[in-house]
Amino acid sequence: MTRRIVVIGGGVVGCSVAWHLAKQGAGEVLLIERDRLGSGTTWHSAGNITWRPGAQHDAMVLYALHAIPALTVETGQETGWVKTGRLFLAHAPSAIAALQRYQDLAEARGITSRMITGAEAAQLHPLLNAEAVAAAWLNPLSGRINPADLTAAYAKAARRHGATIVEGCTAMAIRERSGHVVGVQTSEGALDADTIVVAAGLWSRSLLRPLGINLAQWHCEHFYLIAEVTPRLSREVPSFVAPEDLIYGREEVGGMLVGFFDENAKIIEDGALPEPFSFTLLPPDWDKIAPYFERACEIFPVLETAPIRSFVNGPESFTPDDLPLIGPVESVAGLYLCTAMNSGGVTYSAGAGQIVADLVMGMEPRFAFARFAPDRFGERGRDPDWIKREVSRVVSRGYRQTNL
Ligand SMILES: Cc1cc2nc3c(=O)[nH]c(=O)nc-3n(C[C@H](O)[C@H](O)[C@H](O)COP(=O)(O)OP(=O)(O)OC[C@H]3O[C@@H](n4cnc5c(N)ncnc54)[C@H](O)[C@@H]3O)c2cc1C
Repeated sequence: MTRRIVVIGGGVVGCSVAWHLAKQGAGEVLLIERDRLGSGTTWHSAGNITWRPGAQHDAMVLYALHAIPALTVETGQETGWVKTGRLFLAHAPSAIAALQRYQDLAEARGITSRMITGAEAAQLHPLLNAEAVAAAWLNPLSGRINPADLTAAYAKAARRHGATIVEGCTAMAIRERSGHVVGVQTSEGALDADTIVVAAGLWSRSLLRPLGINLAQWHCEHFYLIAEVTPRLSREVPSFVAPEDLIYGREEVGGMLVGFFDENAKIIEDGALPEPFSFTLLPPDWDKIAPYFERACEIFPVLETAPIRSFVNGPESFTPDDLPLIGPVESVAGLYLCTAMNSGGVTYSAGAGQIVADLVMGMEPRFAFARFAPDRFGERGRDPDWIKREVSRVVSRGYRQTNL
């Protein structure tokens, strides 16, 4: 019997899930999106994709770096992918030692990264103050993409493999009988389904609560800005991350995008987001990013006087351990999650889609997935106060750990 699969949410993650399911012949695939594809968090993502040697990123990101260019060849849909390489900037000896470990691991894998001095880094990035950086790890396996175009490419590929994608259709309730999903009540009527994948980003939590499922994810305000720097940057200039300073950045239309992983991240309380929240941003918060922007100015002094073209404050979902929620919901057969991407949804999208397709097909997923198990936090993971407290801390803590 053909499986009837409904994917809820048409962000970069849901569209990748739909593509992988359809490509693998998992069944009749229908993706429903309440507004337009990419209208949730995806459209304002900074779009960086960076490989790191740690277990969290390794195989899934290598897969993305291979799958995304192949997707353009398959669909003819450009994604804006530019492989720039990334400078990991360090000040303290402990940070340099951590980057040296990355270098050793990369070298053992035959990846042509290298440790360089601050002065060498400044030769690669015309705006970088060599005095402000002690050393850098130059990682070639990094680049940026246009998240809306990547979403469109996944959707196009999904349709080519037979999936149906319906925009303007909201999942109102997941229907379950005797511990098994049976369908979805939508704004356009009832849909039968024996498999449902919830990829509704930060809205996944409220969608599942009526089933008694409390997801260990919460959303925070997450920031970047774009400065009109002089001289203009070229598209190919390496992006950067300064993990000790909790900042990252890259070129954006000649200007400079600078993003922040701030300490004590601002939790967004239930019901605080305006509705509908499509292609919507939150108000800027200069005070919150000021200490991090000051550090960015020390490394890139031109930022001190550069006009700010835009300030992006968008909501993003995090979990207490900085890892997504991907996998089956144990209490409801046929229900799968692919959500809470911890500011890595563009990066994770390809691998996450593959994991879900493998699981739905009853196969052993080709990427390690136990660490993403949705119920891994046990009882604590159902306590909103604990989740919020941990999530507020994990934004900066996770970023330091992932990048050093
Ligand atoms: C400022 C910022 C910078 C970022 N930079 C990066 C980066 O450089 N690299 C990176 O990898 N990641 C980055 N991210 C994270 C990345 O953007 C997200 O992890 C990713 O976009 C999440 O995708 P998603 O598909 O899970 O969620 P979303 O894009 O939010 O998609 C969920 C979709 O579900 C739909 N939906 C919700 N409820 C329903 C319903 N009931 N019925 C039907 N549809 C529904 C929504 O309309 C939405 O389109 C950044 C995030 C932010 C905020």
